[in-house]
Amino acid sequence: MPAAIERVVIVGGGTAGWMAAALIARVLGDQVRTTLVESEEIGIIGVGEATIPPIQHVNATLGIDEAEFLRETRATIKLAIRFENWGAIGDSYYHTFGAAGRNIAFCPFHHFWHRAQDRDYWDYDLNALCARDGKFAKLRSDDPTFALPYAYHFDSSLYGRFLRRYSEARGVTRVEGMVSAVERHSERGDITALVLRDGRRVAGDLFIDCSGARGLLIQQQLNVGFEDWGHWLPCDRAMAVPSERFAQTAPYTRSIAHGAGWQWRIPLQHRNGNGLVYSSRHLSDEAAATLLLGNLDGRALDEPRIIPFRTGRARRQWDRNVVAVGLSSGFLEPLESTSIYLIQSAIVRLLHLFPQGGIAPALVREYNRQSQLEYETVRDFIILHYHATRRDDSAFWRDLRAMPVPDRLAAKLELFRASGVLNQDPLDIFMEPSWVQVLLGQGVVPAAHHPLADGVGADELAAQLRDLAAAKRAPVEQMPLHDDFLRACGGMA
Ligand code: FAD
Repeated sequence: MPAAIERVVIVGGGTAGWMAAALIARVLGDQVRTTLVESEEIGIIGVGEATIPPIQHVNATLGIDEAEFLRETRATIKLAIRFENWGAIGDSYYHTFGAAGRNIAFCPFHHFWHRAQDRDYWDYDLNALCARDGKFAKLRSDDPTFALPYAYHFDSSLYGRFLRRYSEARGVTRVEGMVSAVERHSERGDITALVLRDGRRVAGDLFIDCSGARGLLIQQQLNVGFEDWGHWLPCDRAMAVPSERFAQTAPYTRSIAHGAGWQWRIPLQHRNGNGLVYSSRHLSDEAAATLLLGNLDGRALDEPRIIPFRTGRARRQWDRNVVAVGLSSGFLEPLESTSIYLIQSAIVRLLHLFPQGGIAPALVREYNRQSQLEYETVRDFIILHYHATRRDDSAFWRDLRAMPVPDRLAAKLELFRASGVLNQDPLDIFMEPSWVQVLLGQGVVPAAHHPLADGVGADELAAQLRDLAAAKRAPVEQMPLHDDFLRACGGMA
């Protein structure tokens, strides 16, 4: 077995590279020496602006002050995604980070709601109520259904710079240069060093491949192969363009479905991020540009940029002494803002399974098992949005409605349709409240509520639901506007 890991080398200085550097520097301290190699000539992907609440764990672990973070990355608060035209043209719903109501006597809240059918499901969801009114405040509550979980929208290039400053201040060495060759162990095939174009050598024991979609080490050297999921998720291109900011900053992302893909709108303090994710088999780049630029609600600040992508994952995300993190490990379109989370999760997994001596095969197997499951559950959740639709206005939607979906998702849908029951898959980051919102929002309604929801009398249930809706509404009235919250943190100037 090779010796202990003393030198960690990260290739790539995008979100993946700098998040890996910052967390390793913070958590492993001087147990390892960390070097990050990046090439300004290649640059970073530079999109990736919406996150989900676990980003708070990264900030807490790094000890980042939230107000400083908001100012430095020109961030805004994200409470939800508003999906428009997904279930049917004209429909909309919020997928929030909250939960409508708590389980009562083992029975999830949505069954009580289903039985009563008294008002809109999202009238019970604090995140949705705040999103609708453009309000935000930090709420503390012992009852998770009265908390207000949130994430951020931020400028990803500013986020990278922020993490770089943090990492360099904690001893990470940054090397600017283009990797042009790789040295490998003659017998084991492990990577031993990166060779830069000017001849410099960066040797290491463990290499983290954060080189983006090219997969410099994991694919180009170790050739682990790629599992392509394009038959389930046919979008293969994005077009991104920034635009002027709105007068009032919404505390949510908008996801607007079109004939052959969907458009994102992400509000930042200084501008809006916009983009169209589309299928090149169904929409030309010219038509995509017309569609995107015609749906901005503000002046474009740049030319649209095309970003081709391939949906799927590296067959082994850890191979020999290389761990792939970020776009080198796989890609799922940003419909549920999961890529930065998958970066975070990969780094935390690596830290959990960090080799104590040499790299034991069992560690690698366990890492790959967990990574595969996590990617697949996110994939299934994204497929759900496309598949559970009543849209039939284009070949794109007709094909997606009719396609066979992965077995795990098919079983989940069948169970929910029949009974309203949802099973939680291991390592699925999306919990029951998320699945319920997207299923109901896309028009998938269970045939019946659960018999346990009949355990309360009709009048009593009506009174409980009325009180709950009022209790959810009450704090919203007292809250500041989202923009006022950002100003109080020193932002928006
Ligand atoms: P990159 O940013 O591509 O960085 C690669 C790095 O490797 C660069 O520093 C480059 O210089 C370096 N490199 C490569 N080759 C060499 C070499 N030979 N020598 C030296 N250095 C080299 N995620 C979200 O969570 N939320 C979102 O809203 C979101 N939106 C997205 C929208 C689109 C259209 C796309 C395509 C992605 C989106 N993502 C989103 C994903 C997110 O952008 C990425 O997960 C994230 O930016 C991580 O990228 P990365 O660091 O892996 O790669």
